[in-house]
Amino acid sequence: MSVRRSSVAALLASQELDREVLVKGWVRTRRGNKFVQFIAVNDGSTIHSIQVVANAETFPEEKLKAEGVENGAAVAIRGTLVASQGKGQTVEIQATDIEVYGAADTTTYPLQKKGHTLEFLREIAHLRPRTNTFGAVLRLRHALAFAVHQYFNDNGFFYVHTPIITGSDAEGAGQMFRVTTLPEQNPPLNEAGQVDYGQDFFGKATNLTVSGQLEGEIAAMALGKVYTFGPTFRAENSNTARHLAEFWMIEPEMAFYDLQDNMDLAEDFLKYLVRYALEKCQDDLKFLTEHYDKELLTRLQFVVDNDFQRLTYTEAVDILKSAKQKFEFPVDWGTDLQSEHERYLVEKHFKKPVILTNYPKDIKAFYMKLDEDGRTVRAMDVLFPGIGEIIGGSQREENLEKLQQRMQEMHVPEEDLWWYLDLRRFGSAPHAGFGLGFERLVLFVTGMANIRDVIPFPRFPRSAEF
Ligand code: ATP
Ligand code: MN
Repeated sequence: MSVRRSSVAALLASQELDREVLVKGWVRTRRGNKFVQFIAVNDGSTIHSIQVVANAETFPEEKLKAEGVENGAAVAIRGTLVASQGKGQTVEIQATDIEVYGAADTTTYPLQKKGHTLEFLREIAHLRPRTNTFGAVLRLRHALAFAVHQYFNDNGFFYVHTPIITGSDAEGAGQMFRVTTLPEQNPPLNEAGQVDYGQDFFGKATNLTVSGQLEGEIAAMALGKVYTFGPTFRAENSNTARHLAEFWMIEPEMAFYDLQDNMDLAEDFLKYLVRYALEKCQDDLKFLTEHYDKELLTRLQFVVDNDFQRLTYTEAVDILKSAKQKFEFPVDWGTDLQSEHERYLVEKHFKKPVILTNYPKDIKAFYMKLDEDGRTVRAMDVLFPGIGEIIGGSQREENLEKLQQRMQEMHVPEEDLWWYLDLRRFGSAPHAGFGLGFERLVLFVTGMANIRDVIPFPRFPRSAEF
């Protein structure tokens, strides 16, 4: 008789007992005595494993060992789903048949015991998804990605795919990864003796994108409200717990939005995402709260329940200057805020998420709309507890002459961005948008401490093994 396979999640939620079931997954632990063996099976559908009870008459321990029913083995279990006698679970499976697909040698399988450090697990990125911690992180990551699309779809935004290989350097930032098919040995040179990218695959120098924003603006000027959600790449050598060389960014861009609208959207969006995780990922969040960060659930609920504090950069500088705390980097109007300053504002002063606006133009990108005073731009950074900057955005300069002026001042060549300027020549309109670093969001929601632990295969300086 054939039984349909159930997921562990479905079985644990099932009210229908005393029926034949089939489950497939990986053995997390096997323990017991000469009368009975308990096998915990996890299939990734939930943080919880299902307890399989194997009676020693049918399944003596020696037989289980010989067949490889050990930690890490992939198995199929047939049996009867029954109410559990023991503590810790409501249902369990009385095994009638155990099949091993693939054993895992107990002497060499690295996940033999619990309690490995996160640093060690990073070195076995091919196996760490099988731990409770990474299972929880990866399910949360999925839920948040899904919620991003859900939110935008429900609110009339269109998902646009912006290029990953780009011929433009979005923010004038130098730290990009070059994409080339020119030979490593003796590449063609131009008259100045430099590599001649005119002879490269695309007929020009190309890089991996650092942001989809500029192309997002193209789409917003036609579809109204759009967003991108894709990988971005930065070759900056920032070996921090908040930076990756390859990360995913969510970038909405909206025609006819000003800075106010942009802030309202960012706040509503972030709250929606956190609320979604609180509702849909309770078990995983409970696990992470218990094991990593006792304050996690409280902090998430707090973000959902409270208004973000909004103030200007200038007001923030005043607060920081009169702060009792000594900072490593001094604060003065015109300097970029360091993460110690951001975290002081969020964690000590306001004790809630903060949106800083109207930064000095010299520390922000060329495309941000100039304020009337000519000194500041309509920028906004959203700062989160434990994270610092989670969102950076702005209202964009829609005036052609002002934009050209800013590009000149910041040495952004016009000929590379003629199409971007065309958006200001033909049917220009006020518009705004922002970038949310997806891993910074996952970091916040999972309560993990290092961004390398919230993406399956982290890319950072000197690391691209998996
Ligand atoms: P930071 O000052 O923290 O380095 P940024 O100002 O360079 O960030 P933006 O260019 O404004 O970042 O990018 C938008 C968002 O993308 C940031 O608010 C952040 O959430 C995320 N982000 C930026 N750089 C990285 C990175 N190297 N790794 C992961 N996320 C990043
Ligand atoms: Mn930024």
